[in-house]
Amino acid sequence: MKILMVGQGGREHSLLWKLAQSPQKPLLYAAPGNAGMAQIATCINIGATEISSLVDFALHERIDLTLVGPEVPLTLGIVNEFEARGLKIFGAQREAAMIEGSKIFAKNLMRKYHIPTATYEVFDDPRQARTYLEKVGAPIVVKADGLAAGKGVIVCQTLEAAHQAVTTIMEERVFGEAGKQVVVEECLTGEEASFLAFTDGKTVLPMASSQDHKPIFDNDQGPNTGGMGAYSPAPVVTDEVHEKIMERVMIPAVQGMAAEGHPYKGVLYAGLMIKDGDPKVLEFNARFGDPEAQPLVARMASDLIPVLEAVIAERLHEIDIEWQSEPSVCVVMASGGYPGSYEKGKVISGLDEAASVPGVVVFHAGTALKNGKVVTDGGRVLNVVGLGKDIREAIAIAYQGVKKVYWEGAHYRNDIGKKALDRLGG
Ligand code: AMP
Repeated sequence: MKILMVGQGGREHSLLWKLAQSPQKPLLYAAPGNAGMAQIATCINIGATEISSLVDFALHERIDLTLVGPEVPLTLGIVNEFEARGLKIFGAQREAAMIEGSKIFAKNLMRKYHIPTATYEVFDDPRQARTYLEKVGAPIVVKADGLAAGKGVIVCQTLEAAHQAVTTIMEERVFGEAGKQVVVEECLTGEEASFLAFTDGKTVLPMASSQDHKPIFDNDQGPNTGGMGAYSPAPVVTDEVHEKIMERVMIPAVQGMAAEGHPYKGVLYAGLMIKDGDPKVLEFNARFGDPEAQPLVARMASDLIPVLEAVIAERLHEIDIEWQSEPSVCVVMASGGYPGSYEKGKVISGLDEAASVPGVVVFHAGTALKNGKVVTDGGRVLNVVGLGKDIREAIAIAYQGVKKVYWEGAHYRNDIGKKALDRLGG
């Protein structure tokens, strides 16, 4: 069996690592991949958004199954193109990926199907947006409608900041066409959690819960990033909260998409704010989270291939997924300067030592091979995942791994998993 993984981040490396362990012993390919993925797959020099080249490659190599990591190719219709050529692919079709590709689409879906979320208004005219801001006041959240590499959401503590957000998104068009329209919404408080599920458009099969850490510095200080770490499970998602998320969010979203004529197949990710045990949706994503995938995949005991195949064949009701009871913690190691500007090409040492710590797995993100050495090649560079008998041990193991790795200017947070410890009274 030949499987192609589309993407090049830590999420994609973790999924590929999981596929490599399948008893089906698949032959693995990655496009474009990274230095870590190159150890278990053949990396092909085709970018994740070069859809027609990917289709040609899959046809030529007779790829049996393709798995898509990032959102951009999904919103560009990679799944539609592969399916039109008779190729099996796991991911949301273009129309379904709108749940991530347009915040307005997602908010309107939530309004129509009574999915709890922040109250909001949509604007295509900056003057009207400003009038509304003056009416409702701060704190308030201004969101670019389209994809903005995770940067299009501005949480504003003051009216001044909110006006500046309208200027940045709508007038300066810092995120291009994504900022043609904005959603202005109520600022929610509580604790965030990520909830991911497999769905074939009918059955919703939840994964274990997880929690991301967006800001660059400890104690959630500094600018937001793609994510500086994650752990699973998230204690804020108790059994009762889990039930509410399934009943109020995941099932209505999947049923709503089907009712709208856009059946949703793939991974549905809800970013949630949980307050007093009640979840509200911050956003939907049409794919695995990065870095949430890494600690989740590390805990998945079942083979991943049958799950992917069941989603594609719309027989997910036949599938159960087993999760290891051990919690997992993923610490992201980033280039100094990220999420601002940073240098690339720094030689990374200690990778083998980190991987030999019992309970540690290292997933690569922005890495490349240069003259036989692994070097930094992006903002987020490595993901060090630790599994332990409890969250405290998982944190200690992950950081033991982190401490073995070195490159000039490496930055990581020291408090990944602390919120889980605090909540567990520890
Ligand atoms: P999103 O991409 O919509 O998840 O937004 C990115 C981050 O912005 C979230 O993880 C939250 O921390 C924050 N955020 C988004 N929407 C809201 C909201 N309505 N209230 C408070 N924080 C928000």
